[in-house]
Amino acid sequence: MNQLRWDPTLEEWVAYATHRQDRTFLPPAEYCPLCPTKPGGFPTEVPRESYEIAVFENRFPSFAPDAPEPEEKGSALTPTASGRGVCEVVLYSDEHDATLAGMSEGRIRNLVEVWADRYEELGSLDFVQYVFIFENKGEAIGVTLHHPHGQIYAYPFIPPRPARELRAAREYSSGDRCLHCDLLSQEHEDGRRIVAKGEHFSAFVPFYAHFPYEAHVYARRCIPSIADLNGEERVDLAHLLKRLLVGYDNLFGFSLPYMMVMHQAPTDGEDYRGVAHFHIEFYPPNRTADKLKYLASSETGAGAFIADALPEQTAATLREALESAAP
Ligand SMILES: [Zn+2]
Ligand SMILES: [Zn+2]
Ligand SMILES: [Zn+2]
Repeated sequence: MNQLRWDPTLEEWVAYATHRQDRTFLPPAEYCPLCPTKPGGFPTEVPRESYEIAVFENRFPSFAPDAPEPEEKGSALTPTASGRGVCEVVLYSDEHDATLAGMSEGRIRNLVEVWADRYEELGSLDFVQYVFIFENKGEAIGVTLHHPHGQIYAYPFIPPRPARELRAAREYSSGDRCLHCDLLSQEHEDGRRIVAKGEHFSAFVPFYAHFPYEAHVYARRCIPSIADLNGEERVDLAHLLKRLLVGYDNLFGFSLPYMMVMHQAPTDGEDYRGVAHFHIEFYPPNRTADKLKYLASSETGAGAFIADALPEQTAATLREALESAAP
């Protein structure tokens, strides 16, 4: 069911999870499998009448802990491997219509705790090399269930994009400097693309943003993972996420779709201090209220992004949306 095939032209694994075709697709709200199980109602994924935050293993996983060696052996040129890994679903709330943006900072703070816990626990599994924490939000991103949730993929390899970022950071850091620390100081000094500043985190539209309203949330301290955040930093991360998300929803006056991804240290046993620098990246697909940025031929076939707004402009607009939304 779960297998990996090697693409030698791009030097990357492609994961096959054929049973995913049968997964639940946009069910009516009364049949939401992520809502609590109502007394006398149909059993959902959570056999309780209410919950705060819940985590469970995805029933339609892209990777599974017990994935067998694939029957398809491939060749020396195109080998296969078992799709061994873990896929978890993180439910942010038992309220079907809630969103992360609408949640209290206290709840988001608890979520940070859950993310850190899952990073450590999944990362400690011997077959897991990278714990990828993410959220796909909105139908524009292809979300199949509206209930507020994120996901975690514990991959048996370091996925290509983080691997590329880590390679760049390692090459840069040969002179004892962290690439991300230097990027962050550059953004602070310039200031035009800063969207929000907390005590321990900063949010900005990067100089080289791929999506118009892309925002990166960087820990100011150079730490490899979310698990390395201290108590104050966790509180501040919740605070900054709340501000950014409320601003995002205020940008066009509707709940903004986005992809949220966390970049941090792989869990393959190597030392990533000074190379991996914990940060969260948001990619909203909207160029305007009603136009989306599609990944078309140049982006998909050439890997070259074409953007039609400068980050200085979009950062100013987004900053305004944050400021006018502030209580
Ligand atoms: Zn629900
Ligand atoms: Zn750093
Ligand atoms: Zn990154």
